[in-house]
Parts: sequence; structure tokens; C-alpha cells
Amino acid sequence: MKQLDLADLSITGLTDIQTFSLPVETLFPDFTKIHLEELQRWDPSIVSHGLVHLTVRSWLLRHSGKIILIDGCVGANKERPNHPDWHRRSGLEWLNALSAEGLRPEDIDIVMCTHLHADHVGWNTRLENGVWVPTFPNAQYLCGRLEYDFWLRNYQAFDKHGAFADSVLPIVEKGKMQLVDDGWELSDGLAVELGSGHTPGHLCLNAKAGAIFCGDVVHSPLQLKFPELSSAFCSNPKAASKTRKKLLRRISETHDFLIPAHFPDPGWVKIKKVKVGYETDR
Ligand SMILES: [Zn+2]
Repeated sequence: MKQLDLADLSITGLTDIQTFSLPVETLFPDFTKIHLEELQRWDPSIVSHGLVHLTVRSWLLRHSGKIILIDGCVGANKERPNHPDWHRRSGLEWLNALSAEGLRPEDIDIVMCTHLHADHVGWNTRLENGVWVPTFPNAQYLCGRLEYDFWLRNYQAFDKHGAFADSVLPIVEKGKMQLVDDGWELSDGLAVELGSGHTPGHLCLNAKAGAIFCGDVVHSPLQLKFPELSSAFCSNPKAASKTRKKLLRRISETHDFLIPAHFPDPGWVKIKKVKVGYETDR
């Protein structure tokens, strides 16, 4: 299934990197053999040969006549020498996915950044004559105020990929970045929700139609079984775990779709509570 339709909202994934694999202990430092045994009983594909597999995708929403993009993945031509898989990519797969939807970058009305990590803001900008310019010239970009303030103060120390400088600041300099707070409504029935922990000001997008776009509050289906496991990239692992547990409990009760940034195809799940953590549900 390529498109998910919920009432007045239609949702399509735009894939930038289909499979991006990491040693499970690199992504989840507290992962143990006990976790592995439990996972193998449920779904052995989640960790195979010691690797956990992530997809990097944006979500394209059509809602109230607006075209909304959630997260800009890794993007094209970005200098990411610390991360060979992300370094100077052509970006063709993502651009082709956008054009397969009958859309050009000019057609995007709103770009929401759940947070400002390099695998979520890349497409914000593109290289033109050696200068980073907004990829989506007609879009209003959105970012959490806490998130932006944190990176503005700390990017020189903490942003090892340089994404804040090449994919966020050029948007701000053009006056196209709007900073928003918890509860801000992107349009009727779409509200941002603070979910701190992975980053200080991480935002989710809550759709009344029955879905929550949770960015990196949850990275992998592994965390459905073990919501306490935070990733090595979480700035505050304890807070991230608390936010994740709260969200998963709520979603299992509302039976809304959980739509993270890095889940395997189709990218969305419903979940139910089971003896150990949660499992996917229909
Ligand atoms: Zn991510």
C-alpha cells in the first residue's frame, strides 16, 4: 500500500534511503541478548545478522487543499564526510518519488521539521551556483522554537554533520522559517505536539483524522517491544524513553496510526498491548 487515506487526510511516503543498516548495539546501546531472544520470537526480521534496518523517508500530506511535507531526509549534495551513506548523494530517488506524485518542489506549501538532525532537514535546501537555497521556494517552513533555540546555541559544538548551517540557517536567513510551540495548529485538525527527549524540542504532528507523525520518538519496531530502549542519538535518553512510553500507551488505546520517520514499508503501524511491550495490530 502506497497511500494511506484517513478522512480528509491523505498520506504518502517519499523515500530518500530505502535501507540504512546499523549494528543494533550502535543504535541501541542498552540492547542485550535477552532483547534479541524476545524479538526473534516476535519478528526475526527486525534484527538480522546483528543489524537493525532503517528507512529514511519524508511524509507527504494532502490536507485542506494544502501540500505538506514532514521532514526533509538526507537530501542531495550535502557534505557529510562523517557518514559515507549520506555524503554527496544525488537525491534522485526522492525527487522521482515527488514527481511520481505529480508534484514539483514549487508545489509544497508547508515543510515541517520534526527536529533538526541531518537525516530530517536535508531537502530543506538545494545547491544553486554554490549557494544553499530553499528547495521549496513557495513553502513556509516550520520548526519547534525550543529545538531551534537549542541548535542555534549549540550547533558549532554538537552538529557534527553541519546540517544546521547548510539546511536550516539558509531558510532562516530568507525569512522562511516559522518557529512554533506545543499545540500550534498547522491547519484544522493538524496540531504539533512537543515530544522532547530525542532532541530537546522534538515535535510530533497529531492528525485528528487518526494518525500521529512521531519523527524519531520511535526509530524502529524494536522499540514497540522495548519502549525503554533509547537510541544512541537521543540527546536525553531517559526523557526520550518517557516520551516514547507515553505515546505508545496512548496510541495503543486510541488505535490511531503511528507514523515514524524510519519504519520499514509501508511506514505506518497500528499497535496493541501484549505481554511484553506492544505488537503491530490491524
Ligand atoms: Zn532520524
